[in-house]
Amino acid sequence: MRYDYLIVGAGLFGAVFARQAMDAGKTCLVVDKSQHIAGNIYTQEIEGIEVHKYGAHIFHTSNKAVWDYVQRFAEFNHYINTPIANYKGELYNLPFNMHTFYAMWGVTTPAQAQAVIARQRAAIEGEPQNLEEQAISLVGTDIYEKLVKGYTEKQWGRPCRELPSFIIKRLPVRYTFDNNYFNDRYQGIPVDGYTKLVERLLDGATVWLGMDYLEHREELSGLADTVLYTGCIDEYYDFCYGELEYRSLRFESEVLDIPNYQGVAVVNYTDSETPYTRLIEHKHFNFGQQEKTVITKEYPSDWKRGMRPYYPVNDEKNQALYARYRALADKEETVIFGGRLGHYKYYDMDKVVEAALDLAERTIE
Ligand SMILES: Cc1cc2nc3c(=O)[nH]c(=O)nc-3n(C[C@H](O)[C@H](O)[C@H](O)COP(=O)(O)OP(=O)(O)OC[C@H]3O[C@@H](n4cnc5c(N)ncnc54)[C@H](O)[C@@H]3O)c2cc1C
Repeated sequence: MRYDYLIVGAGLFGAVFARQAMDAGKTCLVVDKSQHIAGNIYTQEIEGIEVHKYGAHIFHTSNKAVWDYVQRFAEFNHYINTPIANYKGELYNLPFNMHTFYAMWGVTTPAQAQAVIARQRAAIEGEPQNLEEQAISLVGTDIYEKLVKGYTEKQWGRPCRELPSFIIKRLPVRYTFDNNYFNDRYQGIPVDGYTKLVERLLDGATVWLGMDYLEHREELSGLADTVLYTGCIDEYYDFCYGELEYRSLRFESEVLDIPNYQGVAVVNYTDSETPYTRLIEHKHFNFGQQEKTVITKEYPSDWKRGMRPYYPVNDEKNQALYARYRALADKEETVIFGGRLGHYKYYDMDKVVEAALDLAERTIE
């Protein structure tokens, strides 16, 4: 059979595009080199709990059209992300807000909190020269030392003084008692997991798993008029200009024979001694009442070819390299690039949905 579209990657981008194509009467063959659909948002049920296999995923958006769109494929719960920071056993609310300031300094009014932060920010004079100075100029020394420094250094594998200031453009500070991590209007988690959401998006497509497009490029491309490729753009071009860099993550999960380990879905470990950055207790994303619990420790790590790419390193060097690959991609007539890996860009899920809908709108006739 010949298809209108060959979609490489059964992640969120590929699945939304496939849905739109099928709704427009087109046929789609979707291939993924992995043994499962849903890409990075894959969830797997363990002990009745939806476990986020490649990092915790919270859907949040201010785009009503995107929110309405995803509701068609999953019921979302009313989860609100309210992470906790653990600094050497001291607990603080995130994002930085009046609860955090009360716990840190005992201040009870916004004016008192503002005065402390203003005094501490003054430690930096002139233009911040590195990430440490940038962070102190935004939130002062105490919050930097306890809640930013260790976490950021673990994340990037380098001291904050050696990291460029542009990595932290903003550090949101709220002078209200509001622990909601996101500012978006809509937020939630699919009640039966992200994998089911993607399964429903793909309903009607032919899906081949365990199929690496690059290993069967010619045969597969011959099966369709147009290819949508959502894998790594440098890999598509056989790394001809060199490798785009990523930061990676390693996950260690455990099933514990207790119903509740930490009382919240996300705890950030912000000291430098604890080797992991986050500890996720998955059941709390879905208000789970199971007898057991599943926890995952998230360890940042360097990335080497062959490892799963997580965060693109969007510094000047890598952006320039991406631009060269992009120029090649722009010349393609029957191949379209999309998604976080095809665009070498950190995309939240709502932005992925938005971009895939936009691409479908512009290109499907
Ligand atoms: C740690 C982490 C946490 C995140 N948390 C959030 C969050 O809380 N909220 C939020 O909104 N967003 C979050 N995101 C972003 C979210 O993961 C992405 O928006 C989304 O997964 C992107 O979907 P995608 O389809 O572009 O990419 P992917 O999901 O990566 O899909 C690409 C697919 O292509 C396949 N593929 C690649 N190469 C080939 C090939 N050669 N042949 C066949 N198949 C191939 C891959 O196997 C993969 O399945 C997070 C991201 C990370 C890294």
